[in-house]
Amino acid sequence: MSALSPILRDTEGNGLVFWCPGCKEAHRIQHGAGNGPRWTWNGSVDKPTFSPSVLVRTGRAVDPSFVSEPGDPPEVCHSFVTDGRIQFLADSAHELAGQTVDLPEFPR
Ligand SMILES: [Zn+2]
Repeated sequence: MSALSPILRDTEGNGLVFWCPGCKEAHRIQHGAGNGPRWTWNGSVDKPTFSPSVLVRTGRAVDPSFVSEPGDPPEVCHSFVTDGRIQFLADSAHELAGQTVDLPEFPR
């Protein structure tokens, strides 16, 4: 993984990784050609735009029998990344649901 900018890193398989301030963990998308879901990326490393939305589901959102524990990541995170800002949709299961904030730099 290498830094493309303070807010964006790339990984193998045309992956792009950004730090989600709602989940306080990294999310990854894939662009260009390859297997699996693919997003479009405007090519900007400072003000990236991805399409369509990024939906991350974990824990009980995926498996109702999952036994969640304190410290688990939010079970649903749904966002649009546009021009370097991240808009969290209302179905996100964290405190930034419904808000739009700048994509933050990765924690050091
Ligand atoms: Zn998130």
